[in-house]
Amino acid sequence: MKSDKKFKRQCCSCRQIKEKNELVRITKEAKTDSLFVNTENKVHGRSVYICKNIECLEKALKKKKIESSLKAVLPENIKQELYTVLTS
Ligand SMILES: [Zn+2]
Repeated sequence: MKSDKKFKRQCCSCRQIKEKNELVRITKEAKTDSLFVNTENKVHGRSVYICKNIECLEKALKKKKIESSLKAVLPENIKQELYTVLTS
């Protein structure tokens, strides 16, 4: 597979285009429809990206951006994981 390090992605909350390493990826696994905080790019499926800051996360949660983009309910444990990733 080709390296995609230079790919840029859009934050689903603030709509800014950023380098992938500035964003957290949330993926709905194609096979199971489960959501993952995809920090190691191990999961394949439809994904959204969000900036690594709490403001973007909270805005996205409030407006259900992640859920509407992925057409899935965001489980509480995934929200907690996102907070953990963004504040670590
Ligand atoms: Zn953002």
